Amino acid sequence: MNERLDNLLNRALGELASSSTKEDALKVKAAYLGRKGDLAILLKELGSLPPDQRKAAGEAINRVKDRIEEEAGALISRFDDAEKAERLSRERVDITLPGRSQRPGKAHPVTQVMDEIEAIFTGLGFDIAEGPEVELDYYNFEALNFPKDHPARDMQDTFFIGPDVLLRTHTSAVQIRVMESQAPPLKVIAPGTVYRRDSDITHSPMFHQVEGFMVDKGVRFTDLKGILTLFLHALFGEKTPVRFRPSFFPFTEPSAEVDIGCVICAGKGCRVCKGSGWLEILGAGMIHPEVFKAVKYDPEACTGFAFGLGVERIAMLKFGIDDLRLLFENDIRFLRQF
Ligand SMILES: [Zn+2]
Repeated sequence: MNERLDNLLNRALGELASSSTKEDALKVKAAYLGRKGDLAILLKELGSLPPDQRKAAGEAINRVKDRIEEEAGALISRFDDAEKAERLSRERVDITLPGRSQRPGKAHPVTQVMDEIEAIFTGLGFDIAEGPEVELDYYNFEALNFPKDHPARDMQDTFFIGPDVLLRTHTSAVQIRVMESQAPPLKVIAPGTVYRRDSDITHSPMFHQVEGFMVDKGVRFTDLKGILTLFLHALFGEKTPVRFRPSFFPFTEPSAEVDIGCVICAGKGCRVCKGSGWLEILGAGMIHPEVFKAVKYDPEACTGFAFGLGVERIAMLKFGIDDLRLLFENDIRFLRQF
């Protein structure tokens, strides 16, 4: 028995020594110490030994078992350590690599211009008002002194939803809603989305306007000129030339178109200003007495001016964009430039 145990131990130690992986070591361990391993077979043979030899033989088997267990355990934990060290070196974080930067979000160029316009007018004491985009014909046209047969009501220009319901074609509708619910003095701008059936490189079916108006006792045309000149200088620079030309709108009398010296060619004449050196930038005028009557103001007691401008046109001029549609295509490569 002792000789067999010595042989068995030597064989086991030899096989462990030649194990090159953890799996090999585990197989050797199982072959000798497992339930059907070589030592288990020897333990079964104990019963056939004479009783006086059984104790010594049992102890000898246990010693061999402990020795193999110890050697196999030490070897397996060496394999574990080596594997862990290898994994740690593979997974090491290289802290010298530069980080991946995140691009911060930015406001859309139209929003940037809208914010700038709002900041200038709130700085001048104007309030900001909003109104519905789905509007009644009354607020969009009738109360603004558009006669029933006015061409602006034409199906070609207006998105009608019903006989008297439409998508507002201008933010001037807000002017009526504000005056209906508040008494003068009023200094208000109404920025927002408007809709017209129009689509080409300078027109979009949805675009943005800022309507503004001021109503009080004794508001004069010179107030209109002063405030709009100040506004345009704040937006395009102190030295930008500004001129007022007579024009016509149903809801103002007298009316004016306001031009600025071309910001592209500085007045020399170019494609954008069609060689004139001037750019039409907004429409304005003194609020028509008929409009005051519609909101139950006394046209003898108060006067006021109103103006409206297209936000996209200003964004295009400020940023040098030559196709309006670029503003609505949401191409991130284009939008990142602003
Ligand atoms: Zn020009």
